[in-house]
Amino acid sequence: MTEKPKKPSYNFYFFLATALILILVVFFVFAIFYETTFFIFLAVGLAAILLYLFPIYLRLNKKQAEIVLQSQNLEEKRNLVEAEIKEEKSFIGSLRNKIALYGELRVLTERLSQCLSLDDTSTALSEEVNKFFGEKERTMILYLFHPQTGELGIFSSHKGAMRVNIKSKKGDLYDQSVMRAMQPLLIEDTKRDYRFDEEKMAGEETRPVRSLMSAPLMVGKKALGILRMDSPHEKNFTTEDLRFLTTIADVGAVAIENAQLYERLEQLAIKDSLTGLYLRRYLLERLSIEVSRQMHRKGEMSFLMFDLDKFKQYNDKFGHVAGDIVLRAVAMILTDFFRQPGDLVCRYGGEEFCVLMPDCPKVKAVELAEALRKKVAEQTIVLRREKTRVTVSIGVASFPKDAINPKELIHKADLALYQAKEKGRNQVCVA
Ligand code: GH3
Ligand code: MG
Ligand code: MG
Repeated sequence: MTEKPKKPSYNFYFFLATALILILVVFFVFAIFYETTFFIFLAVGLAAILLYLFPIYLRLNKKQAEIVLQSQNLEEKRNLVEAEIKEEKSFIGSLRNKIALYGELRVLTERLSQCLSLDDTSTALSEEVNKFFGEKERTMILYLFHPQTGELGIFSSHKGAMRVNIKSKKGDLYDQSVMRAMQPLLIEDTKRDYRFDEEKMAGEETRPVRSLMSAPLMVGKKALGILRMDSPHEKNFTTEDLRFLTTIADVGAVAIENAQLYERLEQLAIKDSLTGLYLRRYLLERLSIEVSRQMHRKGEMSFLMFDLDKFKQYNDKFGHVAGDIVLRAVAMILTDFFRQPGDLVCRYGGEEFCVLMPDCPKVKAVELAEALRKKVAEQTIVLRREKTRVTVSIGVASFPKDAINPKELIHKADLALYQAKEKGRNQVCVA
């Protein structure tokens, strides 16, 4: 509390001065009419009054200066209090914002926890990041390291709600810097940030980028990728934005790691570890789906069944490990050969493979089977420094010409394969 200034009480002095002046006036009148020597008394009286009033005047001045000083102090204190109130208000405002943002973050965490696949997780992450920072001209890019090659690549990129194509697929200088340091990066103006040589990026990216913020996706010390937001305008992001993006990246990284683990598990459950081809269980599932689909649209699909000829001899001659190399080589030829969308190459068991070709008529399937047979027969495989070849027998069947359900389709293809074996192997037989 500030002290209230005392109001000076000069009434008494003014009363005294006024009384003296009145006495002087009386003397003055008396001197004019009766006695001129009274003028001397008058002059003395006047001098006495002046002498008396002068210190009062000085004291008044001093008091006034004190009052001015006090009021200045008060003004200063008022300003300080006002500034404090303003600061408190903005602090409360930013706290409110933070509470709202962390509420949103809870929604994001819940949403991410419900995503199993990597696609779903990245879509949820992109949408939520766009919700926080998305503006018409801003671009969001999610980079992920490829699980096998370890290379950084764009997994998804959005401008607002639209997907966009980014030229520098493996990231530009900024992304490489985030990747190296594994630290968040904020660039207010690319033209004024001398940490990066813009000329080095000439031709790398045609999109105008003037400001950006980027956060690494880390789980412990393991880096999974980068979450980046950029804008064609300078000073579009603040340190507060970057802090929040980093929090989202931390939450997102855990979800991405879970999704990657889930997908790997799923792959392990449906794919053969030796050849990387789908397993029979998965083929049966897909086959029944495709049969219903073809029934519905009255289409035709084909099914091929392969068996390596005299494969036991390879195992006996070169050993089981060499036999595995042959199986892997044949699997690679098959996956390379059947690349149409929907084609499904599968290891049916042991040295037997099969291919499901939706939307492929029987005639075309026979042609393909023959071409493949030739390709396998011509391929040389080096086993224990010895060049060798392997041949396959193939059975072809189609839906609905040869069979009306998956079980029958497999059976017909198997019968045709048996026929091919009977006829001397290294040939294609049709159901
Ligand atoms: P055919 O021309 O009549 O098919 O003769 P084949 O010798 O290929 O047929 P058979 O069924 O007698 O032998 C299949 C062999 O495939 C037996 C088995 O050792 C081998 N085999 C099955 N699975 C694997 C595998 O995963 N790795 C290796 N190396 N060999 C396998
Ligand atoms: Mg066999
Ligand atoms: Mg065989």
